[in-house]
Amino acid sequence: MAITSEIEVQKLARSLYQNAARRKPALFEAQDLLGRMIEWSLDDESLRVALFRFVDVLPSLESSAEIGRHLEEYFARVDHALGGLAILAQALHAGTLVAPMVRRNVIQLARRFIAEESGAHLATVLADLRKEPAAFTLDVVGEATVSDQEAAATQRRYLELLRRLAALSAKWPACAQIDEAPGGSLPRVNLSVKLSSLCARFDPLDPNTEEIVGLRLRELLREAAHLDAALTVDMEQYAFRDLTLAIFRDLLEEDEFRAAPSVAIALQAYLRDAENDVADLVRWARRHGRRIGVRLVKGAYWDSEVAWAKQKNWPIPVFLDKMATDASYERLSRMLLEGRDVIDSAFGSHNLRSLAHAIVAAREIGVPPRGYEIQMLYGMAEPVRQAIIQSGERVRVYLPAGELLPGIAYLIRRLMENTSNTSFLRQTYADKKAIDYLIQAPSLGAAAPAHQTAGEPGSFINQAPIDFARADNRRRFAKTLLEVRREFQKSRPRGGTWLRSVNPADPDELIGQVRSATPADVDKAIAKAARFFPHWRDTAAPQRSQILFRAADIMRERRWQLAALELFEVGKGWREADADVCEAIDYLNYYAREMLRLAEPRQTQWLPSEINTCAYEPRGVAAIIAPWNFPLAILTGMSAAALAAGNCVLMKPAEQSPLMAVQLFEILHAAGLPDDACQLLQGGGEIGARLVRSPNVHMIAFTGSREVGLEILREAYTHRPGQAHVKRVVCEMGGKNAVIVDNDADLDEAVGHIIDSAFGYQGQKCSAASRIILLAGVHERLLRRLAEAVSSLKIGPPEDPRNALGPVIDAAAQKRIAEYIDIGKSEAQCALEMAAPQDGFFIGPVIFRDVDPKSRIAQEEIFGPVLSVIKARDFTHALEIANDSQFALTGGVFSRSPAHIERARREFYVGNLYINRGITGAVVQRQPFGGLKLSGIGSKAGGPDYLLQFLEPRTISENTLRHGFLPPEGVKKGNG
Ligand code: NAD
Repeated sequence: MAITSEIEVQKLARSLYQNAARRKPALFEAQDLLGRMIEWSLDDESLRVALFRFVDVLPSLESSAEIGRHLEEYFARVDHALGGLAILAQALHAGTLVAPMVRRNVIQLARRFIAEESGAHLATVLADLRKEPAAFTLDVVGEATVSDQEAAATQRRYLELLRRLAALSAKWPACAQIDEAPGGSLPRVNLSVKLSSLCARFDPLDPNTEEIVGLRLRELLREAAHLDAALTVDMEQYAFRDLTLAIFRDLLEEDEFRAAPSVAIALQAYLRDAENDVADLVRWARRHGRRIGVRLVKGAYWDSEVAWAKQKNWPIPVFLDKMATDASYERLSRMLLEGRDVIDSAFGSHNLRSLAHAIVAAREIGVPPRGYEIQMLYGMAEPVRQAIIQSGERVRVYLPAGELLPGIAYLIRRLMENTSNTSFLRQTYADKKAIDYLIQAPSLGAAAPAHQTAGEPGSFINQAPIDFARADNRRRFAKTLLEVRREFQKSRPRGGTWLRSVNPADPDELIGQVRSATPADVDKAIAKAARFFPHWRDTAAPQRSQILFRAADIMRERRWQLAALELFEVGKGWREADADVCEAIDYLNYYAREMLRLAEPRQTQWLPSEINTCAYEPRGVAAIIAPWNFPLAILTGMSAAALAAGNCVLMKPAEQSPLMAVQLFEILHAAGLPDDACQLLQGGGEIGARLVRSPNVHMIAFTGSREVGLEILREAYTHRPGQAHVKRVVCEMGGKNAVIVDNDADLDEAVGHIIDSAFGYQGQKCSAASRIILLAGVHERLLRRLAEAVSSLKIGPPEDPRNALGPVIDAAAQKRIAEYIDIGKSEAQCALEMAAPQDGFFIGPVIFRDVDPKSRIAQEEIFGPVLSVIKARDFTHALEIANDSQFALTGGVFSRSPAHIERARREFYVGNLYINRGITGAVVQRQPFGGLKLSGIGSKAGGPDYLLQFLEPRTISENTLRHGFLPPEGVKKGNG
């Protein structure tokens, strides 16, 4: 690719700058209180965050008192010494008095960046823009789409806007600078569409997404073609990119849309793979002879993309430094312009250097004037826009339209972006950087790696889940499912009694059978373990850890097959099954590492005359009794901890998931674990009970229900003849987990997380949300949105990724849950009850409303897709209800009140509290996991204290002073 003349670029950038620098954009003009606060906030990051967080929460605040309270909460803690404090102080004391003024101010601020969709504001804004002259593309802002109803409503809104704008535009006088391109007239109406707004849940894993979005988008394309309007498909987060591009291309390949309407797609230069996307798109357009537009932007989700990738341990998809993005933008500009035979380029940026580069490149390549366009955000960079317009360019303004207050979420993203210290606008108008600096050629600098580097060498890193947004991963898993299914029932043991493992989505499908242990087997295994114990105990800790590290590697190699088998055996969805495998790998690695740390004897105090050490030793024979709901992770975690610590393990998996246990058992032995260090005993509760009662078992690690857990505690602490020790019990039990939704919560966020937490794996997680406590102000709206969103979910066999919900584990669970639903109907009002397929062990999700916090459905663990919604008067009441439970495992709060969040931290008494996020899916090391009260007595799984439960500390003191002599090390140490 040729290189654009740097001299020309700088010359143009300089001349545009001379023009643009004369006036400040409204964003940096302190016209009113908020304007002034934005200005002050540029020098004070904590004020900037507080300010934007306050503006973000404002739309949800109904009363003046609430506004006053939030003002105080957000700003009282900001350490800001500028003159604005006077106004703030006044605000703080006057609380409710200033509230209307603040609200007015924010509405004014919003109006500078968002056109009000209802009323005449939109028409006025458009008419004013045309006078500049600037064309527009309309971006519809508002709540996120969470249900089919909302998706349909958004589509209607798009259609109505198209029609309304078409009617409006017919009256506008023509303007060649914005209406004409070398190829002919341009549509005057241009609508930007976010594909995620066209379906309940935009999920690349779910083939329905493509289908539903396709259907709705087709109608929009048809109407746009009919009205001679243009559509631009916006690009959202990276996880949606592949599917967005696929839908875009697939639809345009259809005969109906080969020529019309005029369509474009946005591409983001901050993505590392953007270059491939541009090349692919140009090739595709040439192959199909289809002209398309491409809006090149830098990308508006930078912080989120980095955060999401780090959470998952995935390669970071964006460039890590701004210069690299700017350089990418210039490369892509040229590529697009060079594809001018099929591509209409639009350059969306406020950066004069980037724009000057695109303009010069266009000239050099021979794209005629107005053969491309420049796009800018409404309200952000007027002087830059004016300068570009005056230079004769075709300019289009990206104009958000909607209700002003609900549109704030959009605004916050843009304000944060354009006031960040890498923003061109800020550097130009607020920081007043020198022009030479502003227009210098972007250099790549030291290219930061896409892959994240671990912290310390050899430090623990979580296993990254499979990224199902990638089509190759989806194909591979689908293929693995077929392969694993072909292996069903391959091994048929002979003799004894058999435990059958069936597919809960289709109980006639036998997956495999294993031989049940007999009481004699149990006794024999205990004896064998006891005999082998001294050997395993004396095996050096690093050697034991090595075996577990190897097991983690083997598990990683087999992860696809393991996740597939788990899906069939316990009815987990694709992501959930994979997450369980990841967690199991994490446990192996984490506990093996932890043991390396704990293995070294510690010197307690140093004395010249005495050696005092404290060292850990394993306890002996450990019975591991596990549940079926995380059939690999929990069994692996408890077993790995026991083994790393040097105990001999008797693994008793749940009778519902024997095959996953076989897999783990094979992996451990393939990794080199001696046969007698870990033995597998398949069977039901009676096998567990026999282990618990044995005088030769030293410790029991149990995870399961409260009933069984309490029984185990009773039995284990009963001394039996021949028993020369007190057993140690690690006991993790159930939950009745509550999520509080405050009046000021972000409901878009809350709905999605509540659905995941309550209905993920059909509610069969100990951490699942089963009580939702809604404050009065959000009660009706959230409940309606939640019920609609849940009713948009599909139920069926989990191998089909269309199904968000699968079966429950077995007939007994199905019956028990159905009984609870009957109880619920007698105790509360049913807000939603969905039908479920008849064949497997399915139960449709149910939501009860107006639930009495004391009622059975609000107090007892149901362990299924049943949610109780409870109304609270205020936040104090909500905390009271949340804590009114015998369980205390997980809990959640959605709130944007710093004071309420602080209170929840102190007063919401649970083992794992989650704030403004889902309450399931604890990650090893990041969120050590375990409950309080009747939810458990262990110390957190996946945390630094966990392994200690599997060890016994021994202190040894040796007097080294003999007849006045110290041994050499004592002398040495004494001198040192
Ligand atoms: P469960 O208590 O029925 O069974 C757990 C295990 O205990 C199984 O292996 C079972 O065979 C065995 N068992 C049953 N009776 C026994 C007895 N008398 N003596 C010894 N062992 C016996 O639980 P489940 O249905 O497999 O799992 C669901 C339960 O587990 C839920 O209550 C859930 O909340 C809880 N759970 C808790 C956590 C946590 O970390 N706190 C994690 C997952 C599941």
